Amino acid sequence: LGMTFSFLAESGENRSCVEGLGDIVELTPALSGRKLFEALGEPEVVTVEREHVDVAMLRDLASFCQVTPNPDAIEICQHRGREKNFVNALGVPTAPYRLINSAESLKAAIEALGLPVIVKSCEEGYDGRGQWKIDNTQELDALLLENTMEGDFIVEGFVAFEKEASIVAMRSSKGECAFYPLAENEHRNGILISSIAPAELPSPSLSAEARKIAQSIIEKMDYVGVLSIEFFVMHDQLLVNELAPRVHNSGHWTQAAGICSQFENHLRSIAGITLGATEPTTHAGMVNVLGQKLNTNWLVDSNVQLHDYNKTPRPNRKVGHLNVWSSDRQKLVNQIHELKCAIYGDE
Ligand code: ATP
Ligand code: MG
Ligand code: MG
Repeated sequence: LGMTFSFLAESGENRSCVEGLGDIVELTPALSGRKLFEALGEPEVVTVEREHVDVAMLRDLASFCQVTPNPDAIEICQHRGREKNFVNALGVPTAPYRLINSAESLKAAIEALGLPVIVKSCEEGYDGRGQWKIDNTQELDALLLENTMEGDFIVEGFVAFEKEASIVAMRSSKGECAFYPLAENEHRNGILISSIAPAELPSPSLSAEARKIAQSIIEKMDYVGVLSIEFFVMHDQLLVNELAPRVHNSGHWTQAAGICSQFENHLRSIAGITLGATEPTTHAGMVNVLGQKLNTNWLVDSNVQLHDYNKTPRPNRKVGHLNVWSSDRQKLVNQIHELKCAIYGDE
């Protein structure tokens, strides 16, 4: 790409570190400003692959090189309250919500929203961690016994959605925007299990609506790079669930759809190179492998690819994924179903 990069990445067993030009630099408080920039090999661009990074450090680095996406955008996405306020201020709907920081404010929020609700910690959560669904007052009492609710939490009205879907959007440093089609997603216990794209939608206008929402968000944020948006699909409306300022698990199918993948398009965005094709030439999908060793027996068909993250299996930990593609959507849906049976043996 004719440019030098550093990725702020997760490495090995989840140690927070910076991967720079082939070296792994562990983050310590002593490494800041110029010293950090030098330790990284004086890159022209720094980018991230996860949102839980130190924003002050990114702002420090921004004095020496381009930091994309910009630290302000990442800061919004680090906190569910800031994120939902930002999205609503654009006139884009979400689930109804209240921000709370005590047992009393939780009770008042439930009074206002009505049960059921989902309570989520505002920061650090992923894969459904730090979340409680409350259906009745007994469950509320049980939560309050184990948690004083001090700190930032969001209470969301429970949305009876028809489907879940997500869009991977991108904006280049030259201002060019592009979007992959919506993927439809299946979650179990708050964790993504599989995605299929393009999504089958209850109303044909939702696809354009998703792009419009994504465009308004990336433009308002002055965003450069790939940004992903999770939606709840209602009959003729999309509600934003959350944003991820990075490539997304539900976009891994782009590696197998005969187009430019989300990973390549992230790099093209931040390098200001014309964005690659985002309209798939085929239907494609992805199945996550959680908490178990990868098995080559899953590769029974020639249109299945296995991606290995080289991680030690732990319960519910994402250790890899399978990509599948087919010009026949029903065949793809069946294959994804069979793979889930083979992996989880529960369908
Ligand atoms: P991720 O791994 O995608 O970052 P997360 O831990 O940030 O997940 P959310 O995306 O907020 O969690 O929620 C996980 C899942 O829980 C959603 O995909 C959805 O299935 C369900 N969920 C979350 N909020 C609501 C809601 N308000 N109403 C109904 N279901 C919800
Ligand atoms: Mg999340
Ligand atoms: Mg989510």
